[in-house]
Amino acid sequence: MTVGVLALQGDFREHISLLTSMGVATLEVRTAEDLKLADALVIPGGESTTIGKLADRYGLIGPIRERCQQGMPTLGTCAGMIFLAESTVSGHQPQLGVLNAVVERNAFGRQVDSFEADLTVIGLAEPMRAVFIRAPWMEKIGSDVEILATVVDLKGCEHPVLVRQGRILASSFHPELTGDTRLHQMLVESIDAS
Ligand code: GLN
Repeated sequence: MTVGVLALQGDFREHISLLTSMGVATLEVRTAEDLKLADALVIPGGESTTIGKLADRYGLIGPIRERCQQGMPTLGTCAGMIFLAESTVSGHQPQLGVLNAVVERNAFGRQVDSFEADLTVIGLAEPMRAVFIRAPWMEKIGSDVEILATVVDLKGCEHPVLVRQGRILASSFHPELTGDTRLHQMLVESIDAS
């Protein structure tokens, strides 16, 4: 079993370290050939426009989309979540469109550009410490998307920040930065189940 980590831009090394600490074999994915060797895929945080443009240039958008549609377990964090989604609230950028969601980029605004919070996550016994860095939230989601955690913004509105649609998991935050392996564990378990 090998977990591919999209290694075009962003904090892919942190995901690889975390997976390695769990004893999981990893592979840096930069081409469609690499992707064929992966049983699951992590799409890291970073800059979603850059990840999208590079994925387009390297001919990866079609192949990743196809694998996701075939049920490949996939975890997208922050920019990775944006790349998985259908569209963004404003502007156009290359996206996979496999997650039935409209995403607001940099949604938490300037005062709280980066912050940490303890999230209650459906299915996890203990709260999860979550690091948000210029993070997106989900503005709209489809009925097939399950909300696993939310955050309340400064105006008191609740927004999904961790969701699951089939075997796709997407988080606004960075589980790879806290050493908490539970989301990566969920990803690995869905390989076993596939
Ligand atoms: N703000 C970035 C974007 O829109 C995401 C930030 C992150 O991945 N930490 O792509």
